[in-house]
Amino acid sequence: MTSSEVISTTTGQRRLEGKVAIITGGASGIGECTAKLFVHHGAKVVVADIQDDLGRALCANVLGSTNSLYVHCDVTDESQVQAAVAAAVETFGKLDIMMNNAGIADPSKPRIIDNDKHDFDRVLSINVTGVFLGIKHAAQAMIPVKTGSILSTASVASYIGGSASHAYTCSKHAVVGLTKNAAVELGQFGIRVNCLSPYVLATPLATEFVDLDGAEFEKYASSRANLKGVTLKAEDVANAALFLASDESRYVSGHNLFVDGGFSIVNPNIQIFQYPQ
Ligand code: NAD
Repeated sequence: MTSSEVISTTTGQRRLEGKVAIITGGASGIGECTAKLFVHHGAKVVVADIQDDLGRALCANVLGSTNSLYVHCDVTDESQVQAAVAAAVETFGKLDIMMNNAGIADPSKPRIIDNDKHDFDRVLSINVTGVFLGIKHAAQAMIPVKTGSILSTASVASYIGGSASHAYTCSKHAVVGLTKNAAVELGQFGIRVNCLSPYVLATPLATEFVDLDGAEFEKYASSRANLKGVTLKAEDVANAALFLASDESRYVSGHNLFVDGGFSIVNPNIQIFQYPQ
């Protein structure tokens, strides 16, 4: 199914009409796809990333300059995260949705004794400190108006061990912790805080360390997936983000929404009945 088919079959309604969103890591992959879907559903979107050429081109040529704004924002730098929130409020008048999506992976070194502190710190600074700063500064803008939806992109590695590097797994578990803590604190202001946990999909982050092209990567991922007959695409994650961002999820907070086809609940030690083909 193509991106536009997924969008058109979701619903005819514009589910984010009048809302303003920031998407960190919005220039590529899941973030880029979500930015397109949010604009399609009526939102104004601030794309915050460090890939300036990609982000500017996305806003100018795809999302449109009246619907979007690109800001250079390294999520590890508090002043830049603060400036991205200020840019959303100055340009579009408010902030309704913060999607902390920027993230990196590192090559998996299965033996912890081979892992460097420097690499570990780098992954945590983007995947955890970046999310912390995004929640903090979004909350600052949302608390006075007593509404808002904050969502962050975690991973199946937020729940299971052994599927990614020590740093990545640790960082995604931490996203769940931040989500829960912030949801408990910010509920009194009507602010919802959730996260998303996708299975693997072919984006630059995932394919960077493997010697497979996009189609081969998807074939490999599908062969290890629980749900057969469908391949996870960025559009599937974007649709889940749309639900958490929109008022349709207005009573959902503190939740980790798995977009993994049941991958994370499979126990390979349990023999599953195989139907005859
Ligand atoms: P991607 O590489 O296509 O996108 C990541 C984006 O984050 C890029 O545009 C990159 O420039 C940006 N980014 C990196 N460091 C940044 C920083 N310091 N400041 C601001 N932006 C920065 O990969 P993706 O798969 O779309 O990743 C998005 C999120 O999804 C990540 O948090 C990732 O961990 C998560 N995720 C990905 C997969 C997968 O298999 N692709 C699975 C589960 C979760």
